[in-house]
Amino acid sequence: SNNKHDKDKGVNVQVLLRCRPLSEDEMRVNTPVVISCNEHRREVSAMQNIANKQIDRTFVFDKVFGPASQQKDLFDQAVSPIVNEVLEGYNCTIFAYGQTGTGKTYTMEGGGRKSKNGDLPSDAGVIPRAVRQIFDILEAQNAEYSMKVTFLELYNEEITDLLAPEECTKFIDDKSKKPIALMEDGKGGVFVRGLEEEIVCTANEIYKILEKGSAKRRTAETLLNKQSSRSHSIFSITIHIKECTPEGEEMIKCGKLNLVDLAGSENISRSGAREGRAREAGEINKSLLTLGRVINALVEHSGHVPYRDSKLTRLLRDSLGGKTKTCIIATISPSIHCLEETLSTLDYAHRAK
Ligand code: ADP
Ligand code: MG
Repeated sequence: SNNKHDKDKGVNVQVLLRCRPLSEDEMRVNTPVVISCNEHRREVSAMQNIANKQIDRTFVFDKVFGPASQQKDLFDQAVSPIVNEVLEGYNCTIFAYGQTGTGKTYTMEGGGRKSKNGDLPSDAGVIPRAVRQIFDILEAQNAEYSMKVTFLELYNEEITDLLAPEECTKFIDDKSKKPIALMEDGKGGVFVRGLEEEIVCTANEIYKILEKGSAKRRTAETLLNKQSSRSHSIFSITIHIKECTPEGEEMIKCGKLNLVDLAGSENISRSGAREGRAREAGEINKSLLTLGRVINALVEHSGHVPYRDSKLTRLLRDSLGGKTKTCIIATISPSIHCLEETLSTLDYAHRAK
C-alpha cells in the first residue's frame, strides 16, 4: 500500500482497481474469466493455465471494486472523500485509466440511463455524483459561492473545446484563427487561450453542459474520423467559496476538481511503458506516457517532475503534486481475451503506487 508513501513523502496518490462484469455477448459465448477480485484484501489476481505455462499474479491496490460493484459503492467509498477535499480548497484529479471497452466512460459519466424526478439514475457515474454532492454540501452550508466549468478534449496533443459555440471550428480559436493554445500564466501555471468557461449555478446546468460536451465529442469523432479511444477528455469544476474568519474577515477559498477520461491504454506498449521509452505513433501516446512518468516521479519523490513533456500534464499541473489529491481508477475486463492488456494495466497502475 502507499500509506507509507503518503506519510513519509507527502504525496497523495490513490490507486483503485475496477473490474467490469462480462457483457451479455461475452456470457453467451462462455468467455472464460481469468480475473478474480478480493475486495476485502484489496487484491486482484490474474490466472491462466495454457498447456504447461501458468500465469498467476496478484496485485494489491488501495481499493478494489469487483464485477458486482455498483456505481454508488465506488463513489461513496472512493470519490466522495475527495469531493469533500475540493470544498476544503484542494485541487484534486480523478483519472480513469484502462483499455478501451473496460468501463472508463461508464465509470466517469455513467451507463446512459435518464434521471427520474431529479434523482440520479443508479448507473450515474463519478461526474454527476460529484456535481450532486458539491451542490448538496454548498446548499446545506448556505454558502456564498461561484462555480465555473470547462470541458475539453486532447487529441494528438491538440485541444478541442467541447463547450465552444456550435459555429466555432473545433480546433480553432475563433478570434485569433489560431489553434487553441496553452499559455504560461507567468506564475508557474498555464491557461488555455480561448477556452470557454461556463458559470454555473445549479447541478442541472452542469448536467446539461456535460451532455452537450459529450454529444459534441461524439459528433466531432464522426466528422473528423477520430477515435474517442485515442483522446483524453478533461471536465473541470472550479469553486470559489466565501468564508468568514472568526475575526470576521472575509476570505475566498478556491478548490478545483478535474475528472479525466483518458485515452485507451492499449495505445501504449507494455515495454514502452515500463522502460519509460516512448513508442510514440505520432503524438497520440505522449500524454499517457508522460502522465505515468509524472506520477512515478511524484510517488518516488525523484526531484524532476516532467510536467512540461505533454499537454495533459501541463494542463493539470496545478492539480498534480504539492498540496493536491490524485486518484487513479484503473479499469479492466475479466475476459481471457484481454489478459495481455489487463496485465499491462495492472502493471501501470501498480507502479503509480
Ligand atoms: P471505455 O470508456 O473504457 O472504452 P465503456 O465505459 O464504454 O468503456 O464500457 C464498455 C461497455 O461496457 C459499455 O457498454 C458499458 O456500459 C459496459 N460497462 C463498463 N463497465 C461496466 C460496469 N462496471 N458494469 C456494467 N457495465 C459496464
Ligand atoms: Mg470511453
